[in-house]
Amino acid sequence: MAQAPVPQRAKTAIPRNPGRHELGMKATLLFPNKEIVEQFYVPLVYTACRTCYSELEPQEIFRRAVEGEVAPASMQRLISNVIESGHGSTIEHIVFTFALSGVSRTLSHQLVRHRAGVAFDQQSQRYVKFKGAATMLPATIAEGDPELRDRYQHQVDGALGLYGELLEAGVPGEDARFVFPNATRTNLVMTTNLRALIHMSGLRLCTMAQWEIRRLFQLIRHEVFSVSPFLGSFLAPKCVPLGYCDEFNNRDEHCPIRPHKDNVLAAWAQQRDAAKAARRDLPVR
Ligand SMILES: Cc1cc2nc3c(=O)[nH]c(=O)nc-3n(C[C@H](O)[C@H](O)[C@H](O)COP(=O)(O)OP(=O)(O)OC[C@H]3O[C@@H](n4cnc5c(N)ncnc54)[C@H](O)[C@@H]3O)c2cc1C
Repeated sequence: MAQAPVPQRAKTAIPRNPGRHELGMKATLLFPNKEIVEQFYVPLVYTACRTCYSELEPQEIFRRAVEGEVAPASMQRLISNVIESGHGSTIEHIVFTFALSGVSRTLSHQLVRHRAGVAFDQQSQRYVKFKGAATMLPATIAEGDPELRDRYQHQVDGALGLYGELLEAGVPGEDARFVFPNATRTNLVMTTNLRALIHMSGLRLCTMAQWEIRRLFQLIRHEVFSVSPFLGSFLAPKCVPLGYCDEFNNRDEHCPIRPHKDNVLAAWAQQRDAAKAARRDLPVR
């Protein structure tokens, strides 16, 4: 059966960058610092990779790596090859701990859906009695119809006001919090190994991700870059290492970072048919 044509949208270059707006959220790398990363992180991952291919004991591989007997470029080359081959357990040996503050509950609900290789602790709405709960204002509302923006603000302020009244009336915080909007800001501590961080970044730096969580992962990538441009370079939208986009909603390629897989396969089929017609083999590249 013929497939319905994909409706064409104008190509917009990379969709709206949430980084243009100051969102009032912060992501800070608490651990490790640059010295620890430089001294131990690359040698640790190198040791995990090298152990698979060496007669040497891991103790000796690690010693050579931390004592400068292995050129950093050759450690990085091995690590890159192993990561690109998908041997992910080697990068589960190193972790990063972030303080995340001022993000909305809309964001945190998405973030904590990640389960493998990541730990979260989040500010409690049961134990904390909020005197001045802060909220997030999306740019589309802030810059949109002023009347709608006022109504939004009124609604949010009203909910927070009612929360205070409920507390004053003796309603416990765990029940009063039911009036909080998704816009309410929250704080978390997140620890993740590098494999999980690359996976999460692949999904959340993608232009199909929601703007706020995309901005958070831009901040996270910036933090990792500041301690290791090498390790930071693995944090990219998933299409970058894949070489193609697999997002259903980008079949029209309005995000141009990588071609959509349907178009890659169509181009391949065209080449295959042309090669068949000319009775020759498909070119290898
Ligand atoms: C753009 C976008 C839109 C989304 N929209 C929605 C939505 O509308 N509704 C909704 O509910 N969610 C939505 N999500 C959330 C999404 O479905 C995932 O729950 C979330 O991204 C966590 O990713 P993950 O499943 O890869 O889990 P992670 O915990 O990050 O897992 C990492 C990897 O480990 C493996 N793994 C983890 N746990 C298991 C397991 N139990 N069994 C087997 N393998 C496992 C998988 O390979 C997985 O990819 C959306 C996510 C994105 C990025």
